[in-house]
Amino acid sequence: MADLRNLDALMREVRPYGATLVAVSKTMDDPEILEVYQHGHLDFGENYVGELTEKAERLPGDIRWHFIGHLQSNKSRRIVPLTHLIHGVDSLNTLKEINKQASDRPKGADLLIQVHIAREQSKYGVPLDKVSDFLEEVFSMPFPNLHIRGLMGMATFTEDQQCIRTEFRQLRNLFDEYRCSMDPSRKEKFNILSMGMSSDYRIALDEGSTMIRIGSLIFGQRQ
Ligand SMILES: *Cc1c(COP(=O)(O)O)cnc(C)c1O
Repeated sequence: MADLRNLDALMREVRPYGATLVAVSKTMDDPEILEVYQHGHLDFGENYVGELTEKAERLPGDIRWHFIGHLQSNKSRRIVPLTHLIHGVDSLNTLKEINKQASDRPKGADLLIQVHIAREQSKYGVPLDKVSDFLEEVFSMPFPNLHIRGLMGMATFTEDQQCIRTEFRQLRNLFDEYRCSMDPSRKEKFNILSMGMSSDYRIALDEGSTMIRIGSLIFGQRQ
């Protein structure tokens, strides 16, 4: 069972920040997702291509699916037509592929560039010191079907709140700096900063997140 009291509490917490709450439903079954949906929530996050594809087929068509996993270019064909926002893109090849797959979709594809802010080696993303060059390159490419909407990052898995805060702050600063250098028409659409999960969303909101991705606080611990 989903914890709707927690969901309500989260919504109240998020509202003053004007941030979006994505309910991360990975590994959850349809009834739990429907509970949250029937409670009025439309944004759901999944991180496996197969799982998202199957759920999108079965569940209501007005759900806004967020792909929050790492997207490999060869998997984007299935994901692009189904998603509202793709969070984890970190390579030009994947961007090229998404652009291609989005060509027959009137609204194109909205996506975020994933930035590596954590100390762990295992997490994906463009290294912090390479992001400016990467974005420069991305925006100079002819990608008529892509809307680069902002940045996404995951902090180190640690109890050390100060460390988490520092990492989120680095991402926020990068986001702001980059926005300052953009022309106004582009800046307007580059307005999403996806950071914060169940364990660190308060720090993320405090550091300027506009989109938090919450799983276990809503759906309980995953097996
Ligand atoms: C699983 C996952 C989340 C949600 O994690 P919780 O700790 O359960 O809130 C958020 N973001 C990404 C990228 C994830 O894979």
